[in-house]
Amino acid sequence: MLLKILLGFLCGLSSLAEARDTSQRPPPLLIVSFDGFRADYLQKFPMPNLKLLYSQGVLVEHLNNVFITKTFPNHYSLVTGLYAESHGILASAMYDPASHKPFRAGRDKDPTWWNLAEPLWNTAQDSGYKTAAVMWPGSDVTIRNRTATHFFRYNSSMTFQERLGNVVNWMQGNRTNETVMFAALYWEEPDRSGHIFGPDNMTAMGKVLKEVDDNIGLLVSELRRANLWGRVNLLVTSDHGMAQCSAERLIRLDDCLNSSSYTLVDLTPVTALIPKQGNPEATFSLLNKCHQHMTAYLKKNIPERLHYRNNRLTQPIILMADEGWTIVQSGNKLPRLGDHGYDNSLPSMHPLLAAAGPSFRQGYRTRELQSVDIYPLMCHLLSVTPRPNNGSLAHSRCLLAGETCMEPALVAGLVVIVLVVLTVITVLFRLLRSRRPAGPRPFRRLQLDDDDDDEPLLE
Ligand SMILES: [Zn+2]
Repeated sequence: MLLKILLGFLCGLSSLAEARDTSQRPPPLLIVSFDGFRADYLQKFPMPNLKLLYSQGVLVEHLNNVFITKTFPNHYSLVTGLYAESHGILASAMYDPASHKPFRAGRDKDPTWWNLAEPLWNTAQDSGYKTAAVMWPGSDVTIRNRTATHFFRYNSSMTFQERLGNVVNWMQGNRTNETVMFAALYWEEPDRSGHIFGPDNMTAMGKVLKEVDDNIGLLVSELRRANLWGRVNLLVTSDHGMAQCSAERLIRLDDCLNSSSYTLVDLTPVTALIPKQGNPEATFSLLNKCHQHMTAYLKKNIPERLHYRNNRLTQPIILMADEGWTIVQSGNKLPRLGDHGYDNSLPSMHPLLAAAGPSFRQGYRTRELQSVDIYPLMCHLLSVTPRPNNGSLAHSRCLLAGETCMEPALVAGLVVIVLVVLTVITVLFRLLRSRRPAGPRPFRRLQLDDDDDDEPLLE
C-alpha cells in the first residue's frame, strides 16, 4: 500500500514536471509549401487571403533559393538549411557511378541519397517534440533511421483539405497523442498548372492561384477553428518559381554531340551528363559553343556561387539553359510550357515567404532572404539546437517581434555614406597635398652630379 502511494506520488511529480515543461515550450511551428509559387504571382493575381495573412505578420518578397531550382533540392534545403552540394539531393534525377544506382525523385525511398543531412522533423525529436510531415519531399524516407512522428506515404490524390485536417488534429493533440510541435505540409499547386499552362497564361494561372489562395484561407480558418491561430507560428512559402517556355526556344544536344557518346543523368533546364570515353574535356569542348543560350561547365569550373560542385554526385559536365530555354536531345517537341531549375539568381525562379504568429512582427515587409536562412530561423522559433548549416539567424532577426535588428537597406545606406565620406576625405587630402609648394626640390637639385639629367630624383 505504502509502495502504491509512493509510486502515485512520484507519478504525480513527473506529470507535474511534464506539465511545467510543456507550458515552457515555445509556440508550435507549421511550415506550408505551395510548390512553384513564383514570387511575383503576388503582384499579378489577387491573393486576398495571403495578403490578410502577412498583413498580420511579415512578408519576404523574394527568397533566394538554391541551385538547382527544382522541387526536391529546395524542399530539402528549407528543412536542413544546406545548399544542394551539402545535403546531397542535387536534382530530381541523379546517378551514383560507384553503386550504378539511379535516383528518381518521388519514387526512390533509399535513405542513402538523403543521409548527408538531417531534416528538422527528425532533429526536433531530440528536444522531446512530436513532429509531422505531410507529403513534404523526403518525409516518407527513413532518413538516418528516423521519420517524423507522423507522416504519410506520398499520395498525390490526397486533397489539401485532408492533409491539413490531419496536421491540425496532430497540432491540437489529445489525451493519447501529445501535441505536435513542428509540422511541414506540402501542396503540389501552383507548380503542376505552371508546367502545363506556363506562368504567362493569366487565365489558367489566375484560376489555380485563386484555388491556392482559397487553400490559404482554409489553412487560417482551420487554425482558428482549432483555437491554434495566434498560438502557432505559421510560415507559408515555396521551393521555386516558374519560367515561360516556348517551342521557339529549344536547344538540341544532338546538334553538338552524338547521343551514344554520353550517359544522360538529367536533361533540362540543367543537363547532367557523363562522357562514356576519354576525359570530359573533349566532350566539353563540343558542348562549350553548342548554343548561345546554353552554358557548359566542367565540374571543377561550376561557379562557387551556385554551391553545387562540391559533391561526389555532381556529374563531370553540367549544361545550364538560359531562362525560358529548354534542352532536348532531338526533335521539335516542347515538353512543358512552364519550367524551373534555371539559375537561382533569376527573379522568376524565386518564391516568397509569408509568416504570422506570436513570434513575428506585424505588418513588416522586407525585400529578400536566403532560403537557407529559414532553417536556423525555425530552429530558433522551436528552441532546437540547429545542425551545422549554411544559413544564419542574423539575416532573419528583423522578422521577429521584440528583436533589435538593423534593416538590410539601412546597413547598405550606412555603408554607402561611409564610402562617400572616405572618398571625399581622400580627394581633399590629395588636392591639398598637390597644392603644397615644392620647397625642398631646389635644394636637393644642388646635390645632383654633373652628368645626371634634369629629371628630379624625388618621389
Ligand atoms: Zn517544385
